[in-house]
Amino acid sequence: MRRAYNSGSWEKARKYAFQIIDQPKERELARSVIIRSYWNQENIAEVIRLNSLWDNEFEELSLKAKYASQKDNYPNAEIHHPRILKLHSTQPIPQNIRKEWNDDDITDNFWQEGSRLWMVHPHGNTFWDMPEGFSLSSTHPDLLRLTAEILLYPWEKSTLQPLEGSRKLGKMPALAFSAGTDSTAAALVMPEQTILGYHRRNFESILDHRNADKLLEHMKLDRGKKVVDISSNHELIRTYHYKQIGFSSDFACATHLILLADHYDIGAIAFGMPLDNTWLSKGRKFRKFDETPYFRYWTERFLSAGIELFLPIAGLSEAGAMKICQDSDILPYLNSCLRGDGEKGCGSCWKCFHKNGPLGRLFDFQAKEIQTFLRRKPLPTAIHALWALQILNLESEVPELQAFLDSDLTWWTSSYPPAKEILPLRWREETWANIHHYLSPMEIPYPVESVNLYDE
Ligand SMILES: [Zn+2]
Repeated sequence: MRRAYNSGSWEKARKYAFQIIDQPKERELARSVIIRSYWNQENIAEVIRLNSLWDNEFEELSLKAKYASQKDNYPNAEIHHPRILKLHSTQPIPQNIRKEWNDDDITDNFWQEGSRLWMVHPHGNTFWDMPEGFSLSSTHPDLLRLTAEILLYPWEKSTLQPLEGSRKLGKMPALAFSAGTDSTAAALVMPEQTILGYHRRNFESILDHRNADKLLEHMKLDRGKKVVDISSNHELIRTYHYKQIGFSSDFACATHLILLADHYDIGAIAFGMPLDNTWLSKGRKFRKFDETPYFRYWTERFLSAGIELFLPIAGLSEAGAMKICQDSDILPYLNSCLRGDGEKGCGSCWKCFHKNGPLGRLFDFQAKEIQTFLRRKPLPTAIHALWALQILNLESEVPELQAFLDSDLTWWTSSYPPAKEILPLRWREETWANIHHYLSPMEIPYPVESVNLYDE
């Protein structure tokens, strides 16, 4: 029965299971094989029927089946996956104070219990576990308003409120540090005293923190960096709006640093946003990033809260960031693959192709995800993927991309000089000089300015 089940012969496995189901010692296993084999065959009705016949012994599977059946019948229905419902119901809850969402006074939605900072939102509570000594009462209200806007604005229009603008610019630079290649490169070119703020999901997910932990230790112990490691569940806010777990918006990865700005005297928050998403739109079309409403709005908004928006690698591509990491001997602590085992990458995901491949790490070019992504139109992470194909000498494997591969992309690892002008003045020269310790500047005419892969 086991052998049949493990080899995917569902009918055969069930046949054996039914033969032993009446033996008390075998009953549990037999039932499990039967119901799971139906689940594997997507026989949803049978899963639900057997679970109720067997006293709800397979509740979790049955919930998944009910979810699948609703999704089948009503593809656009807004229903939560059982895994999300379980996460919602197992989150910590405030001990002493319960608040209702207040859309008049946004700052009233925050309170503190010990070192835990709470924020109520229209669908529940979210929290950050702050360092010892953090005090909400000495945190400027604009920092709370900015946090609420970044986490809730897409849905709660009331969070878009004027800021007082009375917080003085702090002295310290900080970086929203994800432990990936881009933010590691940012950490390496930013001023020595930069605070690295790591956001840690408080709940289990496919995201593995082991790679990040290794790098955080290295940054702390070997490189003497100040690392702030904050647990939070704010990535669940999106799920109340039937979206996947993740950041509500681009700057959500820094809400812990915004909230800690007064605690650490932070006056600039940096993001490892590379050229692919700044002067290029979606990695494939040039735009004047410094003139976009996005850049202007957020620069102004952060500044009103006494924080400069710091984009240290906005003028370098993902490939430039990789080169910086490679040249500073930090690679043993770094792996961008999210499906690795804490040591190596999985070798078959898109990141293993375009981030690990050019670093000389093994990957399977024929892997399904890599081949699927290469055939997508438009090509994801476009210029960077083309550069990776050239570096890896794989051009002949992708005849359909030939037209894009004619021009030489070696410039992709050099810096784009106009990006220097958006760096905060007080750290501009230092950061730019650090970048040029690793990379050379692009030559005029800057090749990135003519990128427009799909004539958009
Ligand atoms: Zn991988």
